[in-house]
Order: sequence, then C-alpha cells, then structure tokens
Amino acid sequence: MLTSIVGINWGDEGKGRMVDLLSESYKIVVRFQGGNNAGHTVINDRGKFILNLLPSGILRETTVNVMGNGMVIDIEHLTNEMKSLTDKGIKITPDNLKISDKAIICMPYHKLLDILEEDRLGDAKFGSTRRGIAPVYSDKYMKKGIRMGDLLYPDVLKDKVKAIVEWKNLTVADGYKHEAITADEMLSWLHTYGDAFKPFICDTGKYLYEANKAGTDIMFETQLGALRDIDFGIYPYTSSSNTISAYAPIGAGVPGLKVGKTIGIMKAYSSCVGEGPFTCEMFDETGDKLREAGGEYGAATGRPRRVGGFDIPASKYGCLVQGADEIALTKLDVLSCFDKIPVCKAYDINGEITTDFPIGERLRIAKPVYEYLDGFNCDVSKCRKLEDLPKAAREYIDYIEKAVDCKMKYISVGAERDAYIEVK
Ligand code: GDP
Ligand code: MG
Repeated sequence: MLTSIVGINWGDEGKGRMVDLLSESYKIVVRFQGGNNAGHTVINDRGKFILNLLPSGILRETTVNVMGNGMVIDIEHLTNEMKSLTDKGIKITPDNLKISDKAIICMPYHKLLDILEEDRLGDAKFGSTRRGIAPVYSDKYMKKGIRMGDLLYPDVLKDKVKAIVEWKNLTVADGYKHEAITADEMLSWLHTYGDAFKPFICDTGKYLYEANKAGTDIMFETQLGALRDIDFGIYPYTSSSNTISAYAPIGAGVPGLKVGKTIGIMKAYSSCVGEGPFTCEMFDETGDKLREAGGEYGAATGRPRRVGGFDIPASKYGCLVQGADEIALTKLDVLSCFDKIPVCKAYDINGEITTDFPIGERLRIAKPVYEYLDGFNCDVSKCRKLEDLPKAAREYIDYIEKAVDCKMKYISVGAERDAYIEVK
C-alpha cells in the first residue's frame, strides 16, 4: 500500500509529528518534493528533532528513508542536519537513507540569488525562506541543474560546473552587480559536502518499484501544504514545487504507481508563514492569544507565524486538491485557550458570500466571515478516546468534518508521539 501524508493548509500543520506516529507500520518513508525550506518538528522518546531535509522516518530504527528525485538538496545543510541527528545517537547509513541520483543539488549561488532577489524586491518581497529554493527549481526547468548523480562522475561534473558558473555570472555579477562566483569555489564546495554522500546515491525509483512489488508498505511525506502548491496554491506566494499527493509517485521516482490512501494533516486553526493572501488572519488580541497558545513561530526560520481561526473555504479546497481520504486534525488542545472558538466559515467577495476558495484577485479582496462556536476551555491533552473529549470539542470536530466533507480519523492533542485520539 502506498500512503501519502500531506498538508491541507499553508504548511506547519504537524506533518512531521504525524509521519513520526504513523510511520510505525511503514517500512519506507519518502520525501518527494521541496528542500530545506521545510521545518518538521518531531518530539518522541528519543528527544526533540527539527527536520528540514530528511524524511521523518529517519527517527525509527528499522525504517528506510528515501529522498526522491522531486527534491532539491543543499548538501551542506544535509551534512549538518545528519550530524545533529547522529550526535543524538540516530544511526544514518546507506541502508536506511537512499538519495535519488536525479535529485537536484541546491548550490550556494541559489541561496545567494534568493537573497539578492528578495533584497531587490524590498517591501514587495515574497517572504522566501532565502534558502535558494525558487532559484534551484528554476534551474531545474532551465535544464541547468546539477544532479546528485553527477557527484559520481567528477570529470563530467567539472565541465558541467564550469559551463553553469559562466552562465550564472551573467545574473550574479552582470545583473545584480555582486562579486562573481568561481567554478573552483563551487567544485570545492561540491567536493567538501558531496563526497560523503556517494554511497547513499542510487536509483530510488528502482528501489521503490521493487519494494512495492515485494508488498512493502511505502509512505510519502510532503513538506508545506496544499495552498503552497506551485500550480494549485496561492500563486505566486507558493513554494516552487508540487506539494500535492498526486505528485508523490512522480517526485518519489515511481510515476507508474498510484497512491492508495491520502491522509490530510489539517490544523484545528490556521497559521501561515510569509507573505500572500491569508483571508482568515486575525490581527487583534484573539490572534495574539492563539499565536502564543500554539507556539506559532517557524521551525525552519523562527519567524512569528500569521494566525487565524479555522478557515473553511481554504481547508475544503485543500482536502479537494489533495484528494484526502482521511483527516488528521492537529493542535486541538491549543483551542482550549478560548471561551468562544473563532471559525472563518465563508469569504465575502464584494458582497458575494462563498465557501468556494477563489484565486488571484478574488482571493486578494476576499474578507473573512467569522462565527464563534462554543469553546471547551479545559485541558484536552490527556484525552485518548473521543469520549474523553468535552462535548464542545466533539461538536467542533463534527462541525469541521461536515464543512470539509472528509472523514476525521485522528485527532492530535499534543506534540508528543502518543498524544492523539484515533477515531474508530
Ligand atoms: P510540519 O511542518 O507540518 O511538520 O509542522 P511544524 O513542525 O512546522 O509545526 C507544528 C508544530 O506543532 C510543532 O512544533 C509540533 O511539535 C507541534 N504540534 C504538532 N501537533 C501538535 C498538537 O496536536 N498539539 C500541540 N500543542 N502541538 C502540536
Ligand atoms: Mg513546518
């Protein structure tokens, strides 16, 4: 069975936490898109971990982790991330980590270009994580990417890097008037951070096809959420990759296989990092209260996240584009801070009230229509069965389930591995 775990909202729904929990019955966990702009926080019996590039299955001893061809990999960052885990006793070897030979390397000049461009934009910036993600995906489609597999052929790599650096300087030096980059610097960086990965690089598609054929269960893990998908999200305030379940087999390396089950991770309220339309945003003290209660500061960047009540139009749309079969609702415990729970039940677009999620200009001008549901105002973090939850909390869950028209399967009531309810 192929299962994908994906975000329904703007990201930071708690995907890492749910993959950590649900990966128990999966032998393989695959990341299939994005780069180190992800920040997945996992708290379990081995400690607290923040993962940017590595699949969250890396924390389970018997799980094999795959970084697929759809990913962009900053090998310096990956080196440091692996070190921070191995320092805490996590074992990482070519047996439990496989990196696609087709994944693209995020180079120092991608990071540089990301920073130069965000600075050039000033107030009109996109809120990039400045980690080179948009520039490296652009190069992928310009067919100027350096792939992980290129590390295995140093002579070919040398020629490739020389040609690319010459082309890059047309932008870096001639365009942005920044100091030129050199091929020697880049080759030395690739050598310093790339050599150790050679034993990890393989055809991950072949590995996954064979595993699937042998009946092994595979889990796909996305980064970010539906609303950040390059095609279906709030373009241009999206990420540069496809964050949706349908892309998982492609980005993993098995485009001929179909996802059997999609589990959508949906937050009990809304949060958003960076710029762009965020209709349900609350600017008042209710918002501040929510940000504090939910600890809404970016795992990758430390930036305060924008917050709002649960957003029905956005979440319903998220479930639709993800093709979610089941929902895991996270951070329900955070809502205990409210007497009345704010919910954005519709959008008002020039007087038209709708629960259909708009795009472009209609989204930009949409105003939230809020309603307030009964709060539960008590600690629910110890609840482990639906019946343990107060009536108001169960009503809130029912209300959301109906609004997004998707089955609620898990309710997370805390960040720790066992702090959840499975809906039977
Ligand atoms: P991801 O990017 O989707 O993996 O999510 P992040 O790790 O960026 O953000 C989710 C945050 O919420 C992390 O700090 C988690 O430890 C925490 N978290 C996850 N689930 C719950 C929950 O049910 N309750 C609470 N209080 N925190 C949670
Ligand atoms: Mg995150």
